[in-house]
Amino acid sequence: MAIVGAGHVGGRAAQTLRQAGWNGAIAMIGAETHLPYERPPLSKGLLTGEREAVQCQLRTSDAWREDRIDHIVGHVQSFDPQARTLQMSDGRTFAYEALLLATGGRPRRLTIPGAELDGVIVLRTLDDAATIERRFVPDARIVLVGGGFIGLEVAASARKRGCEVTVLEGAPRLLGRNVPASIAARVHALHEQNGAQIHVNTMPSSIDRRDDSALAVTLTNGDVLTADTVIVGIGIEPADELAREAGLAVNRGIVVDASLETSARGVFAAGDVALFPSRYTAQLIRQETWHNAETQSRVAARNMLGAAEPYRALPWFWSDQYDHQLQVAGEPALGVSSTTRALDSDAEIHFHFDANLRLVGASGYGRLGGLAREMRLARMLVDSGNTIAPETLADSEVKLKSLL
Ligand code: NAP
Repeated sequence: MAIVGAGHVGGRAAQTLRQAGWNGAIAMIGAETHLPYERPPLSKGLLTGEREAVQCQLRTSDAWREDRIDHIVGHVQSFDPQARTLQMSDGRTFAYEALLLATGGRPRRLTIPGAELDGVIVLRTLDDAATIERRFVPDARIVLVGGGFIGLEVAASARKRGCEVTVLEGAPRLLGRNVPASIAARVHALHEQNGAQIHVNTMPSSIDRRDDSALAVTLTNGDVLTADTVIVGIGIEPADELAREAGLAVNRGIVVDASLETSARGVFAAGDVALFPSRYTAQLIRQETWHNAETQSRVAARNMLGAAEPYRALPWFWSDQYDHQLQVAGEPALGVSSTTRALDSDAEIHFHFDANLRLVGASGYGRLGGLAREMRLARMLVDSGNTIAPETLADSEVKLKSLL
């Protein structure tokens, strides 16, 4: 069995292949020298110093050895889905019975003048996180481009380290389409309360190196910011080129069916790179989340062994910023109406309904810890697909548990 990509998906899939009874060779091939690791701490604990790199590892090096899983560091040049062989740039060739493409994505880059200057960086890997952590010294001037998850989580980490923080977002509000506007507004206020500057409807138009070695970031409104470091978090591009070159169906992501198999028999894809059918609409979607990596990797591995199991997991992600958390489950973007349930303290959950009043998503926001239990129940409710009256969900006297 061969797996291209030795990140969270690649690692979990390799482990699952062994657990599911595959006794033959497993090759997990990746470009990074690190063993497979989880990414959530990269924008948080690793930057605040509360976590160390080794704590991000999916498993210990002993566990991979005991499971006889080969971690091969190198670059896969191509594969041949008919011959079931895979070619490495260093000339090595591997034969496989089934192949998993777990190639993830690459950070989208700015295309403005100065985008390639030293000190303009992205966050995707453990090494990127180490570079950024070294730059988070008190009073360092940090400009974050993009008010998405990287931008905001890194902003919160930088403030905890005593940096001066400015976030630039091109859209009129933070956090894009998948988070309700009212939650995005509370997140915006939270960052300002914690001393970060937030500019919406604003992007950089150029970056220059000044004589004193600082960066001058010129904005679309003509203002100029001084920065020691510019961190760009404007999304990722799925790394689908291997699949495209092998003739597989690709459309900004590798197209898979409900069993996560690509258009070539015996070739599967999972994680950030996989374009899979939504459980609600059957339209192809991608999910760039920890939960998607964790669940798709397992299903894909079992299907590589012939299980033919459909992928049905409900989309879910969370984001911790300062002492608050936001969680989104399901596909709130499919909602045409919503209702709000106020929880104790300052927490709230929005339930989203489609035109048939089917519950298609829940998004919650509140202080860390205050949200967890109720959101777990909310996720179960959305997952159940039950039709529940909006007024019932809004009524905090009615226990969510009683609706399951
Ligand atoms: P993101 O969350 O998708 O946010 C990207 C931001 O950049 C959005 O505000 C987006 O606005 C904007 N943008 C998109 N294209 C742009 C362009 N060409 N020029 C300027 N701005 C642009 O992506 P990210 O923050 O870079 O994070 C990278 C990946 O890591 C994402 O998949 C993210 O979900 C994941 N991640 C997840 C978590 C978490 O789940 N807690 C934490 C960190 C990272 P529009 O929405 O208007 O396009």
